[in-house]
Amino acid sequence: MYRITSLHVGTVVVEHAEPVFVWYVEGQGRKVLVDLGMPDGRMVQARWGVPGEGGGPDALTVALAGIGVSPADIDTVLLTHLHFDHAWNIDLFPRAQVVVQREEIIHAIKPDPLQRGYFGREVNAQLISRRQPDELLIVEGDWQAAPGLALLLCPGHTPGIQGVLVETARGVVALASDVGEMYGNWFPADPRATDQPRRALRDTLLPPGIHSEAPRVCVASMARLKERSSIVVPAHDWRIPRRMPEEWWELPPEGAGTPGR
Ligand SMILES: [Zn+2]
Repeated sequence: MYRITSLHVGTVVVEHAEPVFVWYVEGQGRKVLVDLGMPDGRMVQARWGVPGEGGGPDALTVALAGIGVSPADIDTVLLTHLHFDHAWNIDLFPRAQVVVQREEIIHAIKPDPLQRGYFGREVNAQLISRRQPDELLIVEGDWQAAPGLALLLCPGHTPGIQGVLVETARGVVALASDVGEMYGNWFPADPRATDQPRRALRDTLLPPGIHSEAPRVCVASMARLKERSSIVVPAHDWRIPRRMPEEWWELPPEGAGTPGR
């Protein structure tokens, strides 16, 4: 059984201010991070031309210190995918084992032209500099990281994106990352999830805004992740639970966890 803390480590302003989260997962003697956040705001502005706040190794170190954890305590880093707002700051964890899908590394090195802007050569360089198996574990397909902690390959947003299934005292949490980045992707017809509910989509799921795979592939991946979990936690929605299992919702309760909105 694990406990999960959602750490808000930065914000990127594309159309709206989008939060960037990292998830700290503790249990079974393990201290795990799911994703590592973004570069610092100045670099986001310089390289991607959009405003960014927080980010970089400093914001991540401060966020971890806020829950009494130091980067050196982390034994495992599960990277859902290699976009710059999820996989930056790898060098902050020289002693952790970083786990990533083989398909994602291939795609990060030679991205689909439409996705070039989302990858950063610094991420690839930091990843490839890890030469030992205890520094970098490359997996292919679904993988049991530890008892109660599983990776599910969920192609859609990128070819090698994976969701993380975490067993808690209250049920299984799917840390969905950008498999579906907002509650509106998971509940497109529900007014609690989105301010533009679409009744025609009440029996389906809405693919992520950015996707390398066909919509039907995205939806199949989302359905698989949802079926295997009790609640889904999307990556860029302000309304996610911050401490699980203490906070627990499938759909955001009105007004919950919405700083910045
Ligand atoms: Zn992404």
